[in-house]
Amino acid sequence: MRRFVRPLLLTALAACCGAAFAATTEQAPQGRLPRWAVPQSYQLAFKVDPAQQDFSGTTTIKVRLTQASDHLWLDGSELTVSKVTVTDAAGKLHAGKYVAVDPKAGVVRVDFGSTLKPQDLTLSFDYTAPLNAQLQGLYKVSARGQPYAMTQMEPISARFAFPSFDEPGFKTPFDISLTIPDSQTAVANTQQVKEAPAGKGWKTLIFAQTLPLPTYLVAFGVGPWSIATAPDISPDAYRAKPLPLRGIAAAGEAHRMRHVLGETPSIIHALENYYGFGYPWDKLDLLAAPDFSAGAMENAGLVTFRDWLLLLDKDSPARNVRGSFNVTAHELAHQWTGDTVTLEWWNDIWLNEAFATWMQQKVTMQVHPEYRADLDRVRGAQGAMTNDSLVSARSIRQPITGNGDIMTAFDGITYQKGASVIGMFENYVGEKTFQKGMRAYIQQHKFGNTTAADLVGAIATAAGKGEAFKHAFNSFLDQSGVPYVQTKLEQKDGKTVLQLSQSRYLPLGSSGDAQRIWGVPVCVRYGTAANGKDNAQSSKVSCEMLDQATGSMVLAGASKPTWVMPNANAGGYYRFSLGKHELADLTAHAGMLSDAEQLAYADAINAGFRHGDLDAGDVLAALKPLTGSKIREVATAPLGQLGWIYQYEATIGAQRARLAGWVKDAYLPRLEQLGYQRKAGESEDDSLLRSTLASSLAFDFKLPEVRAALLKQGEAALKPKADGRLDLDAADPDLLGDALGIAVQEQGKPAVDALIAELPKTSDAALRNGILAGLSSVEDPALTEQVRNFALDKQVKVGEMAMLLMSGRDTAVQRDAMWQWFTAHYPQILARTGSFAGGFLPRLAAGGGCSQAEADRLQAFFKPRLNDAAGIERGLAQTGESIRLCSALKAKQDPAAILR
Ligand SMILES: [Zn+2]
Repeated sequence: MRRFVRPLLLTALAACCGAAFAATTEQAPQGRLPRWAVPQSYQLAFKVDPAQQDFSGTTTIKVRLTQASDHLWLDGSELTVSKVTVTDAAGKLHAGKYVAVDPKAGVVRVDFGSTLKPQDLTLSFDYTAPLNAQLQGLYKVSARGQPYAMTQMEPISARFAFPSFDEPGFKTPFDISLTIPDSQTAVANTQQVKEAPAGKGWKTLIFAQTLPLPTYLVAFGVGPWSIATAPDISPDAYRAKPLPLRGIAAAGEAHRMRHVLGETPSIIHALENYYGFGYPWDKLDLLAAPDFSAGAMENAGLVTFRDWLLLLDKDSPARNVRGSFNVTAHELAHQWTGDTVTLEWWNDIWLNEAFATWMQQKVTMQVHPEYRADLDRVRGAQGAMTNDSLVSARSIRQPITGNGDIMTAFDGITYQKGASVIGMFENYVGEKTFQKGMRAYIQQHKFGNTTAADLVGAIATAAGKGEAFKHAFNSFLDQSGVPYVQTKLEQKDGKTVLQLSQSRYLPLGSSGDAQRIWGVPVCVRYGTAANGKDNAQSSKVSCEMLDQATGSMVLAGASKPTWVMPNANAGGYYRFSLGKHELADLTAHAGMLSDAEQLAYADAINAGFRHGDLDAGDVLAALKPLTGSKIREVATAPLGQLGWIYQYEATIGAQRARLAGWVKDAYLPRLEQLGYQRKAGESEDDSLLRSTLASSLAFDFKLPEVRAALLKQGEAALKPKADGRLDLDAADPDLLGDALGIAVQEQGKPAVDALIAELPKTSDAALRNGILAGLSSVEDPALTEQVRNFALDKQVKVGEMAMLLMSGRDTAVQRDAMWQWFTAHYPQILARTGSFAGGFLPRLAAGGGCSQAEADRLQAFFKPRLNDAAGIERGLAQTGESIRLCSALKAKQDPAAILR
């Protein structure tokens, strides 16, 4: 168990309290605030000029006190409170006192001066605070030299913007008013209802009261925004009124939101139809944020995004266009799961994130079936399985023992594993039944809070299922790990029987205990006799709930011999293994599998390799059949696995040449057929395939042909135009970052200097991303140092830093250089990323490491620094374990197998 991060600081207490404020003997709350003081509503008044360093505010909170007390607890961070008044139910004023008991965690005690009976109180705080520089709370950013102020409250940053009961379980209405310079514009969760002059050069904007919201969904933005008004979203069976829709962006940019505003109505209608519940807020604004910590944030009525997700042009990179739709669908799905129905506490963040991820995929499958969100779900789950195979993995419902657990809960386990598990049980009870359960859940808990039991219960009720079903569902929520289903075919009394057993999947070198049992809905595809002949050219799916260590399944109508794919439609969150003979049979029938099943097959090969059952030669043979698939996701599935073998296992030229040759045979003809420039009218999928192949073949496998083609584009892009600016449009928009990266590797310093000079002059986010990707490809040690130092410069936005720092770690020498740089610049990195990015720091320092020595030095460095930022402890455990597993896997390999 972890230590709580809200310790009682006796010295602070003793120092704060004069005679009128007898120090309470009550300990500061650890974890959650007590439930005997409950906020009923807030009035938030802010005075904000983004050009200033600070803002001021008055927060008025109606609080219901349910026990006699001379104080209450709430949250506040970095607030300088000048005045607190407490008005009792009879209207009598009491001078209150604001005591920051634990400034680091943000826990505050408000003393009343005397004991007050249970009643409704009104607390009012006058305060000032800095406009945050780390993208938290109310923070400051600039675009084209103009300052803006905007908010990011989730998970626990509202306390930086206003004194609050900063927990999701406290939902109340909010009245927001913003006093801002006359020349500026402001937006908030709801529609503006009034504007009034507020003294020379200032005006006050008043916004409609919100429906009940938690503090983390409160949002507003102030600055010279440009606003694009789209047609209202039409009413439908579940919403009587037209819904106003707008795009908000930095000055001069809002016209680039036409594409996303055009996609939004279909997403809203799809969600309303699914839930049978109309979008509940009075308007919908999508805001493109000049700098942002997450990808996007689902604030009720005012959804904020990284700007490149919303600002699209006709030649925007295909990945940005896809990303835009997917992320918009995700954030809008949250308006139901998260905003209308909110988690009670952070251990159930999956109720927000897993459901938004799952629903986003459902909406995308409906509105853009060509995006293949079904395959995204499978690939997402497989990505999560890598992390979930660690002993240090979180469970979906990880208990929260401190702020670090809150900060690290937003990971692949919550999002992708969560979405996959939901999909698995949806498949198990049937799509219509699951929908019925979801509709009941939303209806029953609208504008309230829930826990996992409410959700699982709603589905069980809809499906007419009992405790066994709940137990199975909960087995995936409450324990970490990936079920490993082992299968064995047998003939018994003339029937074909599949013997099943389960354990926890653990890679080679893991210290974990493999004994673990889930309720796994196992679905198996197997070959059947067609036309009365045992040719196994058709197939059938059979399902069974495996909730014991072992089980079996009769494969009715199986051909003799047959073949099995133990995860039919890749619908299950589990890995499987087959005997060598059965694996060979499956490889032979790989062409009969669906696209999703081919991805599950690729994962099984990867899992077998990491488990120590298959070597590099086996992998090369088993993955070959996938490379010819017409489906991008399937065809490129082997690249990651081969990349590992190339990077960590191939030690001599001949081995590398063999791998590069394999990749060249498999992919180069396809890439050359696509060409290195987007063709008029080509599909987004072709653009994405071009970019994936070019990047992997040029950087991971160093194919000279591909590097030469990219270099040509990179050189053209680096050639200054008449105005001295680089000609970034000269490269294909999907290949810009790769083209610049090859130029950086080949030209060295002139290219690096030119890109560093260009970045501050470039406001377009897609171009900035291209420049950053180019710089991050640097290999020369001195230039690498230059690029890393540049990452700490204010010309690089806080949200962009990681792009420059996560690459350049393919070899042990490069990783040593990164380590030296990281440890030397640790204070600056910590200061720039803030107190909340702790979970990421160990990976930033040592991710990609593959030796015991790297794991040891990481441990030694961070052990005394666990309290520097929330989340370091978990980040350290996971990064250290990943490095040790890589080292064990590498030690097991015989590189000669590559040449077999
Ligand atoms: Zn989300």
